[in-house]
Amino acid sequence: MGQKVQGTEDLYGSYMRAWQHMQDVARELFGAYGFDMIETPAIEQVDTFVHGIGESTDVVRKEMFRVVSGALFGDLLEAGTEAGLKPRQRMAMRPEGTAGVVRAAVENNLVPQGAAPAKLWYAEAMFRGERPQKGRLRQFHQVGVEWLGASDPASDAECIIMLMEFFKRLGFDPSKLHLYINSMGDGECRPAYRDKVRAFILDHRDEMCEDCLERAEINPLRAFDCKNPHCHEVMAGAPLVNDHLCGDCAEHYAAVKRYLDEAGVSYTEDPTLVRGLDYYTRTVFEVEVEGAGVGAIGGGGRYDGLMELEGGKPTPGIGFAVGFERIALALASQGVELATPEPACVYVAGTGAEERDAVFSATLALRQAGVRTEADYQGRSLKSQFKQADKLHATLCVVLGPDEVAAGIATIRDMDTHEQVQVPMDKLAEEIVSRLR
Ligand code: AMP
Repeated sequence: MGQKVQGTEDLYGSYMRAWQHMQDVARELFGAYGFDMIETPAIEQVDTFVHGIGESTDVVRKEMFRVVSGALFGDLLEAGTEAGLKPRQRMAMRPEGTAGVVRAAVENNLVPQGAAPAKLWYAEAMFRGERPQKGRLRQFHQVGVEWLGASDPASDAECIIMLMEFFKRLGFDPSKLHLYINSMGDGECRPAYRDKVRAFILDHRDEMCEDCLERAEINPLRAFDCKNPHCHEVMAGAPLVNDHLCGDCAEHYAAVKRYLDEAGVSYTEDPTLVRGLDYYTRTVFEVEVEGAGVGAIGGGGRYDGLMELEGGKPTPGIGFAVGFERIALALASQGVELATPEPACVYVAGTGAEERDAVFSATLALRQAGVRTEADYQGRSLKSQFKQADKLHATLCVVLGPDEVAAGIATIRDMDTHEQVQVPMDKLAEEIVSRLR
């Protein structure tokens, strides 16, 4: 028997309805904010992620699922190196959504200079070669937004306000949600700050883990995120970014906080919040749920340099992504069901083989009238068909026996009250539609 790959899940039944519900909520809310949906390919050239996410990030260095065609696989094994592959032959499954959307925006010129911003949202599977555990999968699903071409701090605030509203509409108790925000500075002030953090790590090299020493060289800010408790303790004394923001970044950050205050969105400033991907500038944010034990359920930030890294003109941008599976776990921990109820239907029951054609016609007419309709295809007894109708949450049953068929009528049975009425066959769909209303 085949088995699914470790860290992947099959989505069906209530889990699938939960994922669809999340997309419906996103479509309505993000639509109200002017966002349109986009879907980019699940595979991109590795360069798209290297440019966008950053060569030094864990995601690019360790977690990307690399893709190579079957035809090239043997050659690659034989060569023992990918050096001979052309850039277009080096592909990866997308580990996150932003780099692909920004690549698409550049390639399709979605933000012509001087034109209105592009506001895009997506709901897609992401792939990361992580060690699977609760809330950490190798294939998971994200809903995310990217707002390209907006630099105003009001857009940062609107993004965050929309994210918090999204969580509320999914059923979270807002008092259990914790929003953490920070500013990571920009090209003006971050390099000097990075150097300070690097120097700090090197000053404490005897107390830090090997990984952090490596981080000091390539991406020192990541040391704030080290899982090693000892490094964590040491980093508590490291210089904080707030004290090193340039005037413009400080002003931007203050404006974002002012807008959030005005909107009544509460937040905690966390000067050690450094998101894992290299492309962030200025505002970054993350949301956790009290007591859920699944880590962050969503996060995002501003990425003003990313369009350029993907080969476009300098264009500011901001976005966020939330993880479906973690949200489902976090909601379950609060006793909230994300899935919508199983949809109701109308069941058409026939008493025997002779009524098969009449069942077929009635089913066809109901479906053409837009009614979710089920029937028996296994020649079950009438009693089993009623049982099946209950299982399928039928609110009404249409019963067709020899008498009904001979008289050209149908019996409609209310599955709750068991009350029955008879209607002419050619009025069946009309009657059912009006009863369902
Ligand atoms: P990130 O792109 O790492 O900021 O992730 C954004 C959101 O996606 C997180 O807050 C999680 O909800 C979710 N997420 C990230 N990685 C995983 C994973 N391996 N498995 C499940 N959900 C994930």
